[in-house]
Amino acid sequence: MEIHGFNKTTLLDYPGHLASTIFLGGCNFRCPFCHNSSLVLNPAGQPTISEEEVFKTLNKRKGVLEGVCITGGEPTLYSGLPQFIDEIKNMGLKVKLDTNGQNPKILKDLIAKGSIDYVAMDIKNSKEKYGLSIGIPNFDISKVSESISFLLSSAIDYEFRTTVVKEHHTAEDFISIGKWIEGAKAYYLQAYRDSDDILSPGLSGYSKEELISFANVVKPYVIEAGIRGIES
Ligand code: SF4
Repeated sequence: MEIHGFNKTTLLDYPGHLASTIFLGGCNFRCPFCHNSSLVLNPAGQPTISEEEVFKTLNKRKGVLEGVCITGGEPTLYSGLPQFIDEIKNMGLKVKLDTNGQNPKILKDLIAKGSIDYVAMDIKNSKEKYGLSIGIPNFDISKVSESISFLLSSAIDYEFRTTVVKEHHTAEDFISIGKWIEGAKAYYLQAYRDSDDILSPGLSGYSKEELISFANVVKPYVIEAGIRGIES
């Protein structure tokens, strides 16, 4: 596993749990609003942390930590992911997986084996504008759709989430997303934040009020909808 970041303690990444977060390099999408672009475009150029070091720290924090969040990049690109997760689970920790949904097979296998406890899957945009928001024109959304359908029918805890960008998303897109994920347990709109590591600089975010209005558009379709990442 190419581990490029390790946040020893977070209360934000794994809802309701004190967790560590592991960042893996590489991604098969090119979202213009990606704020980990160096991990996506040049993972080999980023410093790495050994698995040994990560497990040493997790062991030291046994009894304090409740879970581990595995994020990226896109974690499901790694063939060694199931084994890596099993090692974490064997320590008695819960595992949350962040994914872009492009690998439904790994997702299904991990859930079937009981290897993961929570999934956060990105919904980048409405079906019609998916390619725009992942930087891949004419993108075939079938695998993303398969992951959505699978999570909707699964007993695992999960959330869907969208990073909301003025240049990409309109109220109509949220109606479309709501219909696509109809019946979902939880959906969150995340405020876009500029940073030095944005893949395509020059994008902008909506105000808190605008995000709330978009969340209200999705609410009729899902059990819970909310906003994240913007101050009150
Ligand atoms: S936002 Fe996520 S899915 Fe998109 S390029 Fe970045 S790491 Fe990949």
